[in-house]
Amino acid sequence: MSAVSPAVSPRGLFSYRQHWAHRFGRAPFLPMSRAEMDLLGWDACDVLLVTGDAYIDHPSFGMALIGRLLEAQGFRVAILAQPDWSSAEPFTALGRPTLFAGITAGNMDSMVNRYTADRRLRHNDSYTPDDEGGRRPDRASLVYAQRVREAFKDLPIVLGGIEASLRRVAHYDYWSDTVRRSLLMDARADILVFGNAERAIVEIAHRVARGEPPRAMTDIRGTAVIRPAVPEGWAVVDSSSLDAPGPVAPPANPYADDGAEQGRTPGHCQNGGGGAGPQGPPPDDAPDDAPDTAPGNLGTVVRLPAFEAVKADPVLYAHASRVVHLESNPGNARPLVQRHGDKEVWINPPPWPLSSQEMDAVYELPYARAPHPAYGGARIPAWEMIRFSITILRGCFGGCTFCSITEHEGRIIQNRSQDSVLREVEHVRDKTEGFTGVISDLGGPTANMYRLACKDPAIQRLCRRLSCLHPGICKNLLTDHSALVALYRAARGMPGVKKITIASGLRYDLAVRAPAYVKELVSHHVGGYLKIAPEHTEPGPLAMMMKPGMDSYERFRQMFEQVSREAGKEQYLIPYFIAAHPGTTDQDMMNLALWLKRNRFRPDQVQAFLPAPMALATAMYHSGRSPLKPLRRDGGAPVFTAKGLRQRRLHKAFLRYHDPENWPLLREALKRLGRADLIGPGKRHLVPAHQPGGGAGRPPGHRPGGGTPTTGKPGRAAGDKPVRAAGDKPGRAAGDKPGRAGGGKPGRRKPDRRKPGR
Ligand code: SF4
Repeated sequence: MSAVSPAVSPRGLFSYRQHWAHRFGRAPFLPMSRAEMDLLGWDACDVLLVTGDAYIDHPSFGMALIGRLLEAQGFRVAILAQPDWSSAEPFTALGRPTLFAGITAGNMDSMVNRYTADRRLRHNDSYTPDDEGGRRPDRASLVYAQRVREAFKDLPIVLGGIEASLRRVAHYDYWSDTVRRSLLMDARADILVFGNAERAIVEIAHRVARGEPPRAMTDIRGTAVIRPAVPEGWAVVDSSSLDAPGPVAPPANPYADDGAEQGRTPGHCQNGGGGAGPQGPPPDDAPDDAPDTAPGNLGTVVRLPAFEAVKADPVLYAHASRVVHLESNPGNARPLVQRHGDKEVWINPPPWPLSSQEMDAVYELPYARAPHPAYGGARIPAWEMIRFSITILRGCFGGCTFCSITEHEGRIIQNRSQDSVLREVEHVRDKTEGFTGVISDLGGPTANMYRLACKDPAIQRLCRRLSCLHPGICKNLLTDHSALVALYRAARGMPGVKKITIASGLRYDLAVRAPAYVKELVSHHVGGYLKIAPEHTEPGPLAMMMKPGMDSYERFRQMFEQVSREAGKEQYLIPYFIAAHPGTTDQDMMNLALWLKRNRFRPDQVQAFLPAPMALATAMYHSGRSPLKPLRRDGGAPVFTAKGLRQRRLHKAFLRYHDPENWPLLREALKRLGRADLIGPGKRHLVPAHQPGGGAGRPPGHRPGGGTPTTGKPGRAAGDKPVRAAGDKPGRAAGDKPGRAGGGKPGRRKPDRRKPGR
């Protein structure tokens, strides 16, 4: 029996003996051509990274981060970026690597990158020079793996990146409207790396260099492999015994030595954390001396329903999704196994988080911090977006159900040290072309989770809650923002730095717990508008999203306005919302539209829910059931979900209630909802009774795309003065927040540096 990482400390990321090829030294850029390899004196590369993105040598981009990390381990790494996939020949351009090919679709899932939330093809791609669309295939990981196999017979293939990470298990695929197999099966790769890949890829590379085939590496956290059967010696726990259709008992703890374990009191999550588990590492700075996997965890694997079963039965799919999420804490997760035909997909527990020292080292590898020179002066929007912004943390404990970030980066926040962040500020200031004194962001998946954690690592190890913030902020969560305030102050006090804006998403329910932070943020780091994401106003959809209620928003709004007044600044809060999220009825959308009108907001562009692979909301969308509670086949309220273009269009139309093009649809819906009283010319009405110009639909002179002025300033009559659209902040347009499913439109989201596609 080969257990996951036996009970020893997780190995330090930089504790391996360097591969012999370190003698070739560091490449100015990782080579993209034979000519560059010749200049470096290489006869071959050791690792070939194939990616769907243009190569930008910056830690926000997965291939660069993994490439530089492997280079630091002594390996020769070459990059094959956006190859022509029509034949195998372009895949041979850099020669056969000595060890393996690493394949990633890029910083985004290729289907999210290529299609809109309404499944329409996009014509642009923020990760491609000149924003050109069509430079990567649909399901890029799969296609690239096929071509590599054709090009290099028997070369080991390692899948990674967000696409592989979120498709590691049988998953609902929105674009084909079906449940697909684990990507590992379809791509016929040797091993799949999920989550933050640093520990796994370094271990794999050194072991391949020692002659071990990746298929035999069944013991590495953060990886999935195919096995013929569950090996002898493993105790298999059927997932339905943990979370059964039918009346559900509290999850049994298979690690328990005795009955006392089931009713654990010391260290037990006091706020609804179900289940218990073994010991694991503390969250941040001390994983090196923490036990890896407690003896009780060795030898227990949770069996998920087979691919064929979850494909046929949406309730079982939702159940499997719930169990996968409950087994996502590295401190207590067990391996998962899922039958696909006559094979077992074996998914090891998630990786241990990186310590701050390791995070610092990874982000301070010798990146050129620029696009590869092969792109000349081409504009790459994703690079424009992040060139002056700095990652300070990874992970998110919010657990928003439409977002897959937790499934990728985990709930434990991984922080860089203040000194490391300040060194990067210096670097941007001194070496990044075009710097004018403005740092565009210090952030991560969430702006204000820096150095926040559970109060006790022992409690955290045991916790199986899906969120530390929902349904309320867990009483075990430390919410002290002082480290972040100190970081902001130190960064903006640096010579040459004129302004630092915070563009990452803010958890305002956390922020209101820290008035000193709000004061700091609002007084110094808001560039006129602060975008925040209530996502909805109504309790039904908010509960399905696991988002806070509007009372938190209101408290934050009051603080924001008060501090802005005190600072003598005219600045505005821009809320944004998701249409058509599971759990949202037409009535909910109508109420949201009324709230928008009352508060004089007129969103210009709106986002509709996009069911991303592996997200909990995706399980709701597919099954009509909520995996937030134990699944019962014959009970529980169904979750209403807007499906089909017409109903999704209606939900989006409510967000753009002010657009005459939407009025006919809205009038019809209001009548159906028994709210014809909202049709008319007055302030209390949502839409007028007649089209401008007397037409029935689009008004004369209407501009395609809406054309109505954007979000109205609070306190100003809607449309009096065009201002910026929610979500349309200049300078932040490039990346999609990988895994975040609320629309997924590249060009309107956070940069991808927080979820690199490694
Ligand atoms: S703070 Fe988070 S990790 Fe800690 S007990 Fe609460 S929910 Fe669990």
